[in-house]
Amino acid sequence: MTKRVLLIGHPVAHSYSAFMQQAAFDALGIDARYELVDTTVAALPERIEELRGDEFLGANVTIPHKERAATLVDRLTEDAHATGAVNTISKDGHKLVGHNTDVPAFRDALDVLIGKQKMPRAAVVLGAGGGARAVVHALITLGFQRVTVFNRHLHRGEALVRHFGRSAAHMELKAMPWHESVIESELSKTKVLINATSVGLASGESPIPGEVIPPELLVMDLVYNPPETRLLRDAAAAGASALQNGEFMLLRQGAFAFELWTGQPAPVELMREQIEVARSASAGWDKEDAHDSGGGAGEAGGTGAAGGTAAAGQAAAAGDSA
Ligand code: NDP
Repeated sequence: MTKRVLLIGHPVAHSYSAFMQQAAFDALGIDARYELVDTTVAALPERIEELRGDEFLGANVTIPHKERAATLVDRLTEDAHATGAVNTISKDGHKLVGHNTDVPAFRDALDVLIGKQKMPRAAVVLGAGGGARAVVHALITLGFQRVTVFNRHLHRGEALVRHFGRSAAHMELKAMPWHESVIESELSKTKVLINATSVGLASGESPIPGEVIPPELLVMDLVYNPPETRLLRDAAAAGASALQNGEFMLLRQGAFAFELWTGQPAPVELMREQIEVARSASAGWDKEDAHDSGGGAGEAGGTGAAGGTAAAGQAAAAGDSA
């Protein structure tokens, strides 16, 4: 029986994961299909329940369902419990186990960003969604002493800070209002900036103006499409000491998920190549989107099977972080 792995999100289009995962299954001779399943909030419980069936190896969960998915599985791993967000579901018999592979993936990505420098102790995080939760949890467990979260809707940033209240008791974790002058002032006291908003995704926008970026900053943008976001360009112009987009983190979280579903080491190099393939395909999607603004793949309830890497692009929209 061909096994199934779902990408559950809304929308699920422009999924780079479909390229990575299907190619990895195929290369290792695993008879499995990675399917993009656009799922509304109302349909989420049923979609996750369905995973108990024998044909499923598990799922990825992406925007906007990561937090709700954490309440719908039988068991959470430590990272999923700590973040209150699930991006990967694996099976233990018919039981569903929720993981958050964004957390170790972000840790690995931060290591690459920092390079040989000493791990800094202060960071500014833009955003307070599921991705930001993984980032903040990783920063807390890495020993950061001061993390400031800015979010467009302050209440969500405050909810994130409350969520980590206990684990962050030994350090300073705070949410601040999204004012450019406040962001500028915080950035002048920090070494690391992480963009965990979706601003810049498939657009030329940056969450903050280039003028507020001080030189020597280490900047990571979780967005990976386009590979050089406006934020990274502005940071380079301001004299940033290191820059990284979300591609490495995407690759790592996908490799961890693959290993959870299959019990086999992920073919990481092949998966990295598939990100390039997905990027080329996405140039075509962008053109299609410009000409076709409605309907088609990515509608609520639609299902797109990524049966082969070429097919993966047909079911895509925006914002896949899985
Ligand atoms: P969520 O939908 O949970 O959160 C989106 C965040 O973006 C919120 O903080 C939201 O603020 C903010 N935001 C959206 N639009 C704007 C705007 N116009 N101005 C300011 N802030 C805005 O998404 P995720 O946290 O799951 O993902 C966020 C980004 O991170 C996505 O681009 C995703 O692709 C990326 N990501 C990448 C990963 C990787 O492996 N590279 C892993 C995880 C995420 P508000 O709450 O005020 O609406």
